[in-house]
Amino acid sequence: SVRHEQANKIILDLEKLYEHPAEELTVVARYARGIQQQRGDYNGRVLSIRADDLRTLAVVFDTTPSGLVEQLNEFGVLVADPRSLMQNQGG
Ligand code: C2E
Ligand code: C2E
Ligand code: C2E
Repeated sequence: SVRHEQANKIILDLEKLYEHPAEELTVVARYARGIQQQRGDYNGRVLSIRADDLRTLAVVFDTTPSGLVEQLNEFGVLVADPRSLMQNQGG
C-alpha cells in the first residue's frame, strides 16, 4: 500500500529521552545513541528515525509500531513539530 512517509515521521526529543528516568526507555535511548553514532549526528536536539528501526524496536517491546509510538508519546519523548523547536533556538 502507498503511504505518505512524511506524515508518519518519527522524531525523538533526545534531551527528554536521555533525561527520562523510566527504565523502559533505556533501550530506546541506547538505540538512538547508536543511530547518532552511525550518522555522525551528535549535535541535534532531535533525531528522525527510520520506519524500519521503529519496527525493530516494536519487536523488542513486544508491540506494534503504532503501539510503540503511543507509548513514546505518553512518555513525552516524541516531537510533534520539529520546527517549533527551532523557533526556541533563536537562530
Ligand atoms: P546508507 O543506508 O547506505 O545511507 C547512506 C547515506 O544516504 C546516509 O549517510 C544519508 O546521508 C543518506 N540516507 C539514507 N537513507 C536516508 C533517509 O531515509 N533520509 C535521509 N535524509 N538520508 C538518508 P549517513 O546518514 O551518514 O549514514 C551512514 C550509514 O549509517 C547509512 O548508510 C546506514 O548504513 C547507517 N545508518 C544511518 N542512520 C541509520 C538509521 O537510522 N538506521 C539504520 N538502520 N542505519 C542507519
Ligand atoms: P524536518 O524534517 O521537519 O526537520 C526540521 C528540523 O528538525 C531540522 O531542520 C533539524 O533541525 C531537526 N531535525 C530533524 N530530524 C533531525 C535529525 O535526525 N537529526 C538532527 N540533528 N536534526 C534533525 P533543518 O536541518 O534545517 O531541516 C529543515 C527541513 O529541511 C527538514 O524538515 C526537512 O524537510 C529538510 N531536510 C533537511 N535535511 C534533509 C535531508 O537530509 N533529507 C531530507 N529528505 N530532507 C531534509
Ligand atoms: P524512513 O526510512 O522511515 O526515514 C525517516 C526519516 O529518518 C528520514 O526522513 C530521515 O530524516 C531519517 N533518516 C533515515 N535514515 C537516515 C540515514 O541513513 N541518515 C540520516 N541522516 N537520516 C536518516 P526523510 O529523509 O524525509 O526520508 C523519508 C523517507 O524517504 C525515508 O523514510 C525513506 O523511506 C525514503 N528515503 C529517503 N532517502 C532515502 C535513501 O537515501 N535511501 C532509501 N532507501 N530511502 C530513502
